[in-house]
Amino acid sequence: MKLGRFIVDTHVHSQRHAAGKALKGSTDFKDLGHAMHQIEAYDNSPRLIYDMNCYGVDMCVIEPAFGMTNKTNLEQVKKYPERFVANCNAKEYQDRCAAGEEEWTIDGAIAELARLLDTKQFVGVGEGMPISGGGMGGTTFTDEQTLVKNMMKMMDLGRQYHIPVRYHAGTPGGYAISYHGFPSTYNPLWVHTLAVAYPDVPIILEHAGIEGGWWEWFYEQALHVAASHKNIYLETGRYWTELYYKALNDPSVGAEKLIWGTDWGASLPVYSQINRYPPGYTRQDLKQGIPRHQVDIWGWSLKQIQRLDINQDDMNLILGGNAVRLYNLRTPGGLTRMFKFVD
Ligand SMILES: [Zn+2]
Repeated sequence: MKLGRFIVDTHVHSQRHAAGKALKGSTDFKDLGHAMHQIEAYDNSPRLIYDMNCYGVDMCVIEPAFGMTNKTNLEQVKKYPERFVANCNAKEYQDRCAAGEEEWTIDGAIAELARLLDTKQFVGVGEGMPISGGGMGGTTFTDEQTLVKNMMKMMDLGRQYHIPVRYHAGTPGGYAISYHGFPSTYNPLWVHTLAVAYPDVPIILEHAGIEGGWWEWFYEQALHVAASHKNIYLETGRYWTELYYKALNDPSVGAEKLIWGTDWGASLPVYSQINRYPPGYTRQDLKQGIPRHQVDIWGWSLKQIQRLDINQDDMNLILGGNAVRLYNLRTPGGLTRMFKFVD
């Protein structure tokens, strides 16, 4: 049975890296962290469409990450307008800065994003936000005050364009990446400050503390943020079942604040440890190295949701209704009132 009447994955990478050249044959995650920003990507929509048909996923919010271009994503949206919408990223600007043609500034990155949003071809910005120059594997040090100021410039942009702002609170646990570095930070707690300063701008905590690994420390912080402000959404695609229950049982969080986004297309395999808690979770196994096949995240992730013994209207909010509301997506079959109303 299909798990919901309209299923949207809000975090999808429809391009895949051709990493071999940049990695020079290495399968070490450490090298991937460093090479990420030199890696080129190709159109991976045939595999994605296959999986959408296979698992009954109606729509995807696709977004660039390192190496992946806005251009290819837009081509995919044009080809499959019923199935894809796209977030934009200041990718080309980052490339020019990396090539030494320009010096990275937050104003430069924001101006590039505004230019892209003005084309009206994108529904938002992602993944993450431009909190610093360089990349995840970089060691450029940006002091915390500057990082928060940079985030506030992104919040200004979100307010101006009426788009949700994506805060990449992931914990890949495998890639050798620094504590902060575009587009990611390990610290979800700064969102308290952003949420207070911009109560009118929805903030999505990408991965919401669980990306790779079984450490619940960041997840608890993400819950703490979500329970404190009305404008916070938790992206849950890599949660195992028990983690959903804690969020659903929290009267200040609940189904209306959860959105399903799995990071489909990322090379993060699911690790099984039978008869232990949790029996499965995403882990980048440093000894095994980078997987070479297209990891199947939807089968596992939907199974976690299938185990939830909750009413279907709440399930529909998590699987698509909240995404429809946040991103102004088409509604199933063009019908209205298909989802429970949320203030
Ligand atoms: Zn991602």
